[in-house]
Amino acid sequence: MKSKIQRIYKALLDAYGPQGWWPVTVNPKKGPEYFPGDYSHPRNAGEAWEVIVGAILTQNTSWKNVEKAILNLIENNCLDIDCIMKTNAKALAVWIRPSGYYNQKAKRLKTLARYMKRVWDGKLGAFFDRPVEEIRKELLSIKGIGRETADSILLYAGKKPIFVVDAYTRRVFNRLGLIDEKADYDEIRCIVENAFFDKPEDEQRTTFNEFHALLVEHAKRHCRKKPACEGCPIRRTCKASFES
Ligand code: SF4
Repeated sequence: MKSKIQRIYKALLDAYGPQGWWPVTVNPKKGPEYFPGDYSHPRNAGEAWEVIVGAILTQNTSWKNVEKAILNLIENNCLDIDCIMKTNAKALAVWIRPSGYYNQKAKRLKTLARYMKRVWDGKLGAFFDRPVEEIRKELLSIKGIGRETADSILLYAGKKPIFVVDAYTRRVFNRLGLIDEKADYDEIRCIVENAFFDKPEDEQRTTFNEFHALLVEHAKRHCRKKPACEGCPIRRTCKASFES
């Protein structure tokens, strides 16, 4: 299992190249940008908070819609903890409307901003400067944050070595014969994490960063709902491999 996971990762990386996740805004006029091969982002608390906001906004919607919502927050000078905390939920919902479920997401953002201010005085550095399991437990106790969102925050905002599982991961791994359809989230996460367990922590972090993004790319290009197996870079290792 371990070497198979490593081979899949390498084949996807060779085929698609570094993905540059998680997009962050360096130039406010451009909005979130990808930085392939550069794992230094987020470089400050502002970028880390933007990743956290993006992780909430991307629930049940595509990234394109999230970008528009983030640009609206930037235009209204409200991509920070204090502004989100103070802004009325209805006004916030108008700005994040492109991301869908905007009333619910506005409440979630406000709950999280309030929490960060009340418990951590808005200091994300201190929040993340703890063992990963401790932060994960805390994130999961906040309303509106499930395992995928918590792990996205830990990996992409907190730079912690944790693998993010989403519906694409589940679909690809199931077709490859690595998991069954009903596998638990943490079971899938551990399969990947165990495959890179002996690597240095920062290498694990950058690997999990890329692997998640590569699986998303792969599920969009080849392993779609109706798979396009011709030219699939991991076809030889795949149990499902549909004839096209
Ligand atoms: S061979 Fe087809 S089903 Fe298997 S991983 Fe590739 S695209 Fe998905």
